[in-house]
Amino acid sequence: MEKERRSADVVIVGGGASGLAAAIELGMKAPDLDVLVIEKMPEPGRKIRATGSGRCNISNTGAAGFSRIMEFFREIGLVTRVYENGLVYPYSESAADVVTLLTERAASLGVKFACGEELMSIKYISSSLVSESLPGSNLFRLETVLKDRDGMRSIITQTSFVIMAMGGKAGPSFGTIGDGFRIARNLGHKIVTPVPALTGIECDEWDAGRRPCGITLGGTRSAGVVSLYKDPDEVFGEETKVFEEAGEIQFTKYGLSGICVFNMTRHMRYDRRAGESLDEFLVKVDLFPDGDIAEYIRDRQNGNFADTPAGEILRTVLKEPLADYVIASAGSGPDESGRAFEDRPISSFNDEEVRAIADHVHALEFHPVQIRGWNDAQVTMGGVSLDEINEATSESLLVKNLYITGELADRDFQCGGYNLSNAWITGLAAADDIVQLYATLL
Ligand SMILES: Cc1cc2nc3c(=O)[nH]c(=O)nc-3n(C[C@H](O)[C@H](O)[C@H](O)COP(=O)(O)OP(=O)(O)OC[C@H]3O[C@@H](n4cnc5c(N)ncnc54)[C@H](O)[C@@H]3O)c2cc1C
Repeated sequence: MEKERRSADVVIVGGGASGLAAAIELGMKAPDLDVLVIEKMPEPGRKIRATGSGRCNISNTGAAGFSRIMEFFREIGLVTRVYENGLVYPYSESAADVVTLLTERAASLGVKFACGEELMSIKYISSSLVSESLPGSNLFRLETVLKDRDGMRSIITQTSFVIMAMGGKAGPSFGTIGDGFRIARNLGHKIVTPVPALTGIECDEWDAGRRPCGITLGGTRSAGVVSLYKDPDEVFGEETKVFEEAGEIQFTKYGLSGICVFNMTRHMRYDRRAGESLDEFLVKVDLFPDGDIAEYIRDRQNGNFADTPAGEILRTVLKEPLADYVIASAGSGPDESGRAFEDRPISSFNDEEVRAIADHVHALEFHPVQIRGWNDAQVTMGGVSLDEINEATSESLLVKNLYITGELADRDFQCGGYNLSNAWITGLAAADDIVQLYATLL
């Protein structure tokens, strides 16, 4: 294959959130620098378009570097608004608008884009030479492959600075399949095993043989509290609780989902490919966190509701599939006159039976068997070890003038704008460091 050659002062690999922030910052602060963004997808920002269900939850007032991020967006003319819990969105609530603004702003500042081009390898000349680097000297040699209608071409790019903003493995359809990990490893970096996070979990209770009375919960949503217990001995006492969050729990066709469940997966690190299991984890769901269901039932055991069947009483506080599921799980079978548990009048329930229902309403147990895979995950847990990255500048501590930003590094956060914040702020830090270095060398 014939190889084309070109050069740039700074090459940013990855036109995602981090790469675009770095490109614009360089364009604004060091207009003389020749900046090239290499992006393997046909256009930059594919993942950004999908964020926040197309609304792009760009930041959070509680995120590290929040004011710096807002300053950046003000400078490029993005109007934002802050919602409950500090969530920040573009005023238009359109992720597509954010991508248009970022790419147009970068292009207007002279940033060049090479889209549809995939980075295959990075080589640097030698570590002793690299430490004496100067802008203008070509220290890195990047090999990329461009596939277009003329066929496949290999391109060699020489550059003084590289920003690796290649993301992780979550959402591979947006271009992130973990290339960055392989390339960083080849440059000598340690990679903390990447695993999917911010996604749903598959549970044993969805196995057809384990469903009480064959009841399926798929398609049901409920407000509640999820708690995660971690105990290698599988006793799961209160002291083994490692996570708790209130929110909307979605019972899907495979198991549990919803923002609070997504956040829980960050506490369930396990490597399926290494044969690890999730046996040491147990999830409990409180479906009635605002009160004591036992008290609620006892109130109804006398008076107007005394003859109402237990199933009906539960359906006054829980959605039907959940009420049926709870009662089927807590139930002890038909009584001596053949009446099913859920059909017995509430007044006929003794203390032990009320307690059994309450235990299932306040601590309904689910046994996780699998975290959903990369296609469903919003973020990568793991990545380039933080021990080898300068936290303030995003520069590699192993290879001078190489920067590792965004999700490629071993940093992940809960839902709510924190992961994009990490991408923006680490991209900006890399760009600012290059700008500063460049200024001292002029
Ligand atoms: C569906 C979904 C919704 C999300 N919603 C939110 C949200 O609302 N708020 C939030 O804070 N976070 C959200 N996230 C997480 C957030 O999008 C990511 O953490 C963030 O985009 C990471 O930024 P990044 O720049 O590090 O990587 P990315 O944005 O993933 O960009 C990496 C880029 O590198 C390119 N690339 C990779 N390999 C190569 C190669 N070999 N050669 C050339 N280019 C390459 C990719 O094509 C990609 O464009 C969401 C994620 C998903 C999947």
